Amino acid sequence: MSMLSNLLADLSSLLFPSGCVVCGGDVSGSMHGICTMCRYSIPLTNFWKTEDNPTKEHFAGIIPLVQASSFFYFSHESQWRMLIHRFKYGGEWRLAESFGRWYGRELRESGLYDDVDVVMPVPLHFIKAIKRGYNQSSYLAESIARELGKPTDRRSVRRHRNNPPQSRSSMGERWANVENLFSVVNPKALSGKHILLVDDVLTTGATLASLASAILASVPDARISIATLAVSRKIDGAK
Ligand SMILES: [Zn+2]
Repeated sequence: MSMLSNLLADLSSLLFPSGCVVCGGDVSGSMHGICTMCRYSIPLTNFWKTEDNPTKEHFAGIIPLVQASSFFYFSHESQWRMLIHRFKYGGEWRLAESFGRWYGRELRESGLYDDVDVVMPVPLHFIKAIKRGYNQSSYLAESIARELGKPTDRRSVRRHRNNPPQSRSSMGERWANVENLFSVVNPKALSGKHILLVDDVLTTGATLASLASAILASVPDARISIATLAVSRKIDGAK
């Protein structure tokens, strides 16, 4: 092992002491909190490499988007669900940061996100943020922004309330539930900007659509793109 890989291994075990978050395996010498096996078997979508992809199509006719992408697929049965769960509820913000760097690098290399001006995490309601202690989408957005060489904006839009529980509601009810969730408090800051909205998981997309439409209603000359870390397998009918 070279000195550099030794150093990376030490750093990795320091940052991710509990082993691979997906399979529990040994993470020494690997990056992003997952073991080398999982690193190579992660079900990446490659959506960020093309303009037309299932994430973008998902919002067609609902929100006009410049680009849209998701990084990897997850299904409720898959172990990759655990990764999302850990960084959403397990306090493992370092995972969000680490995956944000990886995803951000891919977005940069695709060239499709070059003219993004600002990166914005989906705002959490402040009570939820206090309860959880952090906003995982913020860590994700900040790492992506760093890789793209762009600033983040966490202040121009505010969230009024949490989404109500959605598991039993119908699709129509879900969309009605997320109306007026957000308001733009500083439209000037967003005027004329290409804004990349970042969220952890894309399932129905209702929250992201609500955020995008609130921005476009207040800032008609803004342009919107979307990047989510994970996407439900259902999005392209694969499962
Ligand atoms: Zn693993």
